Amino acid sequence: MKTAYINNTPHQFKEDETILNFVKRVVGEKIIPTLCDAPNLEAFGSCRICSVDVALEKDGPTKVMASCHTPVSTDMYIYPSSESIQELRKNIIELVISDHPLECLTCEVNGNCQLQDVVGEVGLRDVRYPKEFENHLDYKKDLSHPYMTSDFSKCINCYRCVRACDEVQGQFVLSMAGRGFDAHIVKGEEQNFFESACVSCGACAQACPTSAISDVFESKSTKADEKTRTICTYCGVGCNLEVSTKNGEILSIQAPIDAEVNAGHTCLKGRYAFKFYNHEERLRQPLIKKNGEFEEVSWDEAYEYITSKMSSFKDEFGPDSMAGISSSRCTNEENYLMQKFFRAVIQTNNIDGCARVCHSPTALGMQRTFGTGAATNSVDDLDDTNCIMVIGANPTSGHPVTGAKMKQFAMKTDNISIVIDPRKTEIANYATHHLQLRPGTNVAVLNMMMHYIIIEGLADEKFIADKTEGFDNYKKSLLNINIDKLEEVSGVNRELVRQAAIAYATAPNAMSFHGLGVTEQYQGTFTVMQIADLALLTGNIGRRGVGVNPLRGQNNVQGAADMGVQPHQGAGYLDITNDDVNRKYNAFYGATVPKHIGYKIPEMFEAALEGKLKALWIIGEDVVQTDPNTQKVIKALNSTDLVIVQELFMTETAKYADVVLPGASFLEKSGTFTNGERRIQAVRKVVEPQGNSKVDGQIIIDVMNRMGYTQPDYDAKTMLEEISQIVPFFAGVKWDELGKRGKQWPVAKGGTDTQILHTDTFKRGKGKFVYNEFAESREILKHGDEYPYILTTNRDLEHYNCGAMTRRTGNVEIHTEDVLWINPEDAAEKNIKEGDKVCVESPRGKVDLSAFITDGVKPGILSTTFHFPEIMVNNLTSDEHCTEAHCPEYKVVSVKMRKSKGEFARK
Ligand code: SF4
Repeated sequence: MKTAYINNTPHQFKEDETILNFVKRVVGEKIIPTLCDAPNLEAFGSCRICSVDVALEKDGPTKVMASCHTPVSTDMYIYPSSESIQELRKNIIELVISDHPLECLTCEVNGNCQLQDVVGEVGLRDVRYPKEFENHLDYKKDLSHPYMTSDFSKCINCYRCVRACDEVQGQFVLSMAGRGFDAHIVKGEEQNFFESACVSCGACAQACPTSAISDVFESKSTKADEKTRTICTYCGVGCNLEVSTKNGEILSIQAPIDAEVNAGHTCLKGRYAFKFYNHEERLRQPLIKKNGEFEEVSWDEAYEYITSKMSSFKDEFGPDSMAGISSSRCTNEENYLMQKFFRAVIQTNNIDGCARVCHSPTALGMQRTFGTGAATNSVDDLDDTNCIMVIGANPTSGHPVTGAKMKQFAMKTDNISIVIDPRKTEIANYATHHLQLRPGTNVAVLNMMMHYIIIEGLADEKFIADKTEGFDNYKKSLLNINIDKLEEVSGVNRELVRQAAIAYATAPNAMSFHGLGVTEQYQGTFTVMQIADLALLTGNIGRRGVGVNPLRGQNNVQGAADMGVQPHQGAGYLDITNDDVNRKYNAFYGATVPKHIGYKIPEMFEAALEGKLKALWIIGEDVVQTDPNTQKVIKALNSTDLVIVQELFMTETAKYADVVLPGASFLEKSGTFTNGERRIQAVRKVVEPQGNSKVDGQIIIDVMNRMGYTQPDYDAKTMLEEISQIVPFFAGVKWDELGKRGKQWPVAKGGTDTQILHTDTFKRGKGKFVYNEFAESREILKHGDEYPYILTTNRDLEHYNCGAMTRRTGNVEIHTEDVLWINPEDAAEKNIKEGDKVCVESPRGKVDLSAFITDGVKPGILSTTFHFPEIMVNNLTSDEHCTEAHCPEYKVVSVKMRKSKGEFARK
């Protein structure tokens, strides 16, 4: 380390340390005041409040320098608080205050305003400049948006909001217009927040040091009497949230700067879409349907009803007459309990959940190739990669904080980004290569890519020889593929594929991210295996900045699968058909767990339709709205004697229940969620459950106890202790040691976690190449002629899954309905105009959607979301599924379309 001087005292400074950071580290945080500086933004040097005197020799002439962006150099003499510097700071602040409303006492951020703090720190008492001169105090407030607000009379032109919008979110909505006195912040093209392209992430509001930009929850005010750190309930990114409460009510949510996952950032769902928690429609009392109507009952009555029916079904029809669907919204501990209830108390393996439904091909495909079915690396590795391949994922909508990081990556000049997707997603607009393939042809394109890597001599021969098996046959098959045919079926020019393949293979480090556009397909598992093969082929596995990284959908999809919410694997992915595993579970649970594989969700519905399923307990999953082939799901529920739905709201599924149990939201319970990076993070209770609702884990335990199985009351710490004894990769997980960054599994007994998988060997020994040929989806083969368009479904930024939570927040004002993406050529051919209602029909049913005409999809391809129950898009989707993992094929639906008639015609 080298030496520099602060007030003539020598200190050692770090490489690339700025004067500001050096002084803060050595002398203290409060020595140098700042305004335009922020911990998650690049140094900018605009406000000059952080100026210090600097000499290059002892007692030499000094120069004023902005400390925030000036690096320390050897033998620099720094005087952070000289008399002239203090005077300079006071003068700067005096000028700022001369054009600032003096209404601190009524200001939202009174007591938590950085400008107010700095005024105090520099000792400014009076402003010498008269107020009657021209100023900016009459700016109108912008209250156009359901969340974002602005009052630019409070703006001090520090650029923090502009930089947050650019550097954190990458949205470029905010900018500075005008010069000198006219300099001012603009949104979009001088629009208001609502009209602009703002995505409401709130990064600007959090960055603003005053209340010039804020939000309707006044997140920066200090009115809270408690702040609790917890984890977002929406997507698998797993953002940390800091929730402010007063008198048991939630006031607002901010993003902690020191969070490893999100470092002060969130999307609008995590930061603002929380008001569902005490919405008037929350279920607050158990309900039993009597004579076709729900009636409120006590918990005792509900429990008695459930347990007596389940016990009699068990006696009369056997354990396999019952099944459970657990929830990726719930904690690990609750998912563990739900599968334990079915395995140890009911004694069936009929337990499944959306964790298996949507990413089962990921688990299976990666297990086949590597031996472990989870992300190999962390999102943070974007800092160390040169190339990303995003396939079948729309991260800026589905995983927005990760999506924002990818956008930042893609915008940097030397970085390569490859997007393989049928839609021009936002990330595709920034990509170096966008392979806009026909839905259902991922295997065709990936086989072409690997073919070119081999014939261009870019395979990593040493890695392949040392760490893999099966390559010779694999190579032979790849060299024999029919490029003409694959080019035709995929609709992607071979030269584009070749260039993307070369870019991936020649990057020093390349990492892939995939989503449901990979898994929810007929060849989902094969596609995952190919993505893994691509990493093996190019040696991109086992170090930072590489690997295969599934973007997990719901917040705790990873955790629910880890906990055994699958009919074929118990807690810790142990094979339930294996004798040793069976003995282990039996001994641990003190019960006899069956060894035969249970029903997957579609098989539960089939069994119900065949009269074999007597009871179905569903927690936090709206199968009617989100599972494919809605009418079939409804028939199955109607055919089941006892349907128990544990929910926050009266969802479409809950309407078909016999018993509705009011569960608790993530804000009302403790436990852990595991994000898409295998990171186990602490969820901490913020408020009490609403009304007479209960923590979901406690409900399961109450039923367990009433059915004769002793299970202690729900407590996150003790539950985690139990889990750590049966799930091998949780061996060292302790509630008290999760800290602020959580732990990435596997966690060894001593508590050491694992950031990168497969650094030496693979769990299965060697990485295994298996060639899989492209095959057309059965849906297209069966129905393609009569239903010539392909519909692919996806998600929007503003809503999550069935939208039960987000539709009960301000998000519904931003995004109001599911719309249909149609290419202009198709729209012209069918005489459809923007906003017209379009009737989309599949072999299963039809729905009417408003047209959104865009070249974001190619001719012949349609796209929509499934967030609104009024539309029920899953009336269209089919029972087709991945051949290996049985994941439903939501992404390829054969449909026809026409302009709507009758009540849906354009008014
Ligand atoms: Fe973060 Fe996802 Fe929650 Fe948005 S939805 S705040 S990206 S965890």
